[in-house]
Amino acid sequence: MKSGMTGTCVVWLVVGIVIAMSAAAKDVPHLYARVNDYGGVFSDDLAKTIETQLAVHENATGNQVVVLTVPSLEGERLERYANEVFNTWGLGQKGLDNGVLLLLALQDRKVRIEVGYGLEGILTDAAASRIIREIMIPYFRKSEYGKGVHEGAKAVIDVLKGGSVDIAVRGSSLRRMLDRDYTILWWILLVISIIIWISLFRRYRRNRPRVSKKSGLTMYKLPEEHEDKHLNKGQQKEEQIGSVDYDVWVSDEAGDIKVIAYRNYWSWKFKKCMKCDHLSYRKTRTYIKKAPTYSRSGYGFREYKCVVCGFTKEERYTIDMLVRASRSSGGGFSSGGGFSSSSGGGGFSGGGGSSGGGGASGSW
Ligand SMILES: [Zn+2]
Repeated sequence: MKSGMTGTCVVWLVVGIVIAMSAAAKDVPHLYARVNDYGGVFSDDLAKTIETQLAVHENATGNQVVVLTVPSLEGERLERYANEVFNTWGLGQKGLDNGVLLLLALQDRKVRIEVGYGLEGILTDAAASRIIREIMIPYFRKSEYGKGVHEGAKAVIDVLKGGSVDIAVRGSSLRRMLDRDYTILWWILLVISIIIWISLFRRYRRNRPRVSKKSGLTMYKLPEEHEDKHLNKGQQKEEQIGSVDYDVWVSDEAGDIKVIAYRNYWSWKFKKCMKCDHLSYRKTRTYIKKAPTYSRSGYGFREYKCVVCGFTKEERYTIDMLVRASRSSGGGFSSGGGFSSSSGGGGFSGGGGSSGGGGASGSW
């Protein structure tokens, strides 16, 4: 009697546990391709595009990157679920564990990049976390799930190929900016047109009709070829080297001359000469007198010369001590063994890889 009671209790307890477990554990879905869109976030075209990009990467490197979107986690923990899906399907190749799972849970507003053992050194937790926070979530916040996952997948591929996360993040944010209804392009156009208007206005002001203050007569601007006799040698040289552009205005009265100086294309290259005051003083050469070593700094000279009067000056400058670069192992990736595709025809099959929970998660 007593043992029977205990037996019944145990049975009920087991049943209870099974019910509780099945309630908490969300079924691992069937993965039918590299892009598995149970959440329905991709258009057919986008799904195909991502599938192709992942397939190309897989054929070239053996790395198996898989996308899974689900409507909900149904109470399951994101990390556990991702790990279960990953290991059930054995993403990546056996022994190499070179799989990555990109999991998006729509209603839970959660995303995870689960990384196989073999790729944890390349797609680090920190890199995966940046891809989620800085590339994917900005899209998710605008409900652009398909685009966000696509950008995330591209970044994962870039990093797996040895690219830097920094560049992937910057490239993606640039694309996002340009996407913003081309707002940024309109701004650029606006700035360019303002610059054009300013230069047109300047040209108008420069060439507008003038009246001589001396004689009250109308003045005419001399064409370039007739300017020289009214300019001194230094001014002529300045025009020649392009540091200053002079306009010469004359009226019908002899000696009624007005010379006006404007900055020219090469103005920035020259400084005012401290001797002759023309805009004709520039750096002519730099040379190292004593090269730096790993134990002390070095120095050299910068030589300046005035093109008009020939005034020359040397300035001493210090060159920093050399610093030894620390050896790093680089971030390059090479797939060791050859890859044999067991999934010709674009089908999908996991290769027996496993994940120990590496990767990163995020929510928005
Ligand atoms: Zn000078």
